[in-house]
Amino acid sequence: TRQFFVGGNFKMNPVSREAKRALVKTLNDATLDPQTEVVIAPPSLYLIPVLELLRKDVKVSAQNCHTKTSGAFTGETSPAQLADAGIPYVILGHSERRTLFGKTRAALDAGLRVILCVGETLAEREGGRTQQVVEEQLQAVVALLKPEDWSRIVIAYEPVWAIGTGKVATSAQAQEVHADTRKYLASAVSPVVAESTRIIYGGSVTAANSKELAGQPDVDGFLVGGASLKPEFVNIVNARA
Ligand code: 13P
Repeated sequence: TRQFFVGGNFKMNPVSREAKRALVKTLNDATLDPQTEVVIAPPSLYLIPVLELLRKDVKVSAQNCHTKTSGAFTGETSPAQLADAGIPYVILGHSERRTLFGKTRAALDAGLRVILCVGETLAEREGGRTQQVVEEQLQAVVALLKPEDWSRIVIAYEPVWAIGTGKVATSAQAQEVHADTRKYLASAVSPVVAESTRIIYGGSVTAANSKELAGQPDVDGFLVGGASLKPEFVNIVNARA
């Protein structure tokens, strides 16, 4: 069975170190479902202080990384630097900065785990192209991965129209894409990888809508943006409890 996964993507929040400490304190004081893998992704500036302050049963993720190990890449962070700092995860391919999937190979080579974001725009959904778009996005990565890499990949289905809009996918919409994506993995990779890889949902997840989504058989967790900055993040972590 797939372990339920809840990621908090803080994006470019919060704005002060004080507020960052308060977010960590909320999590440190909370009762979290021990069955859920919980990962928070603060801005890069805060990765190391968060790692130091945070309870050890919650993991820390970067929000992006470069492909190269080092070099003249102003403003970038390398996968090797993240691994050396003890950061186990990186979010890649988020629609707010969808880029080259070569990054996934580079991050895995550095020993990181990858939260791989895919999802369609509203125009693509309305044009009936949702599954085609998601599969094309995944295909770029599938081609680069070895079977054993998949245990370090979490797929985040994040429909672009649901991100930061308050328009959450219905549980039926999410379940349909997750199930079709699992079928795609079964044929493009293997039935074992399809069965074991977690496919989580992101886009306007709140405490209020998380229970029903978490009840879908192919929804293996969440990547949470806005609500990860609020106390209700704890309820989302515990959505399956
Ligand atoms: P919201 O939860 O704010 O819609 O953001 C989702 C997201 O983009 C998580 O990566």
